[in-house]
Amino acid sequence: MNTPRLEIDLTKIKQNTESLVSRLSEVGISITGITKVSLGSPEIALTMLQAGATMIGDSRIENIEAMSHAGIQVPLMLIRSPMMSDASRTVRYADISLNSELEVIHKLSDAAVTARKCHGIVLMIELGDLREGIMPADLENTVRQVLALPGVKLKGIGANLACHNGVSPSADNMAELSSLANDIEHTFGISLEIISGGNSANINWALSGADLGRINNLRLGESILFGREALYRQPIESLHTDAITLIAEVIESKIKPSLPWGEIAQTAFGMAKSSDIDKGSIAQAILAIGQQDVDPTGLTSPTGIKIIGASSDHLIIDCGRKSLPIGTEIRFLPNYSAVLRGMTSPFVSKVIKRDNTPIIAPRLCNTLPSTGRSKTINVNVLTNREKRLWSITR
Ligand SMILES: *Cc1c(COP(=O)(O)O)cnc(C)c1O
Repeated sequence: MNTPRLEIDLTKIKQNTESLVSRLSEVGISITGITKVSLGSPEIALTMLQAGATMIGDSRIENIEAMSHAGIQVPLMLIRSPMMSDASRTVRYADISLNSELEVIHKLSDAAVTARKCHGIVLMIELGDLREGIMPADLENTVRQVLALPGVKLKGIGANLACHNGVSPSADNMAELSSLANDIEHTFGISLEIISGGNSANINWALSGADLGRINNLRLGESILFGREALYRQPIESLHTDAITLIAEVIESKIKPSLPWGEIAQTAFGMAKSSDIDKGSIAQAILAIGQQDVDPTGLTSPTGIKIIGASSDHLIIDCGRKSLPIGTEIRFLPNYSAVLRGMTSPFVSKVIKRDNTPIIAPRLCNTLPSTGRSKTINVNVLTNREKRLWSITR
């Protein structure tokens, strides 16, 4: 099999999704499965849907477009504010987008009118993490203007925490979001369908038994795919933390001194290394993977192996006393950042492993408000470009 490769175990992803869907539905929260770390893999999206996610979201319109082409029929949500230059593409392929700029929403409305569509808007509110969001004081005025636009429908409000400054979801900031929802409904006499409280950093809060107020949706990527909550990266009970693994291959294996010799200046990535403990001779190996394929700091090595450096194309490991044969495959556990880079590297193959159940989700398509039709999803309708992009091996 090709190396390096990311192996994606759909059965584990399905079980993780099912477990989160079951626990969160008990507290009235639906799940939007977020596929952005997987380059919008339709197979992962379909797995999440089969397991009970009710919407799919991605940060890139290219990924949304590809999933739409793959036949995904549930509402697709663009979770980064659309670029003005992407307005028509956004209304064409995404049913809903997360927004914080009126100028953009105007453009989306115009594009939707032209396309004879109605585009759903979720207004993002700034709750302190200082990434995207309308300041709470500006919300009422923004809503008033959105409600006057012909091509869009205000679906709800949302927030995103723990991304820029690590601000945690709390009883206070979540209660603020709930109370803003109530205010808007009361002031304008409307009802908001989606109150989207946040991402995988909201898991502990959502499962804490606390009053969740009006929050009825979370947008989850990391917790489903990595089995961890995103505040402290602790494993979530009964979830798999190894659904995605990374395999790389040994191309050099030698006994070498543990310390370099010669005058020390900068390395390929600008840093002088401080490996000052002399361990004598070590079995050192080089794997054919590097900075352009993966974030080396995001890899957990198997027992007995330690990563000691990485350049563009080489990952250098200390294997202790025992030399590894050339061609040996080493399996690492990659974190979010390592997978993100691996997924976008054309040099890393993506191998999707699943049991024999065909991936179809007609049940969910039946519940679609927009089409109302049942349609069997066929993942074999990917264009050649999409197949190349994902290097899908079955
Ligand atoms: C990435 C992202 C998510 C999902 O975050 P995870 O930590 O992967 O669950 C949700 N919402 C927005 C706006 C995002 O950008």
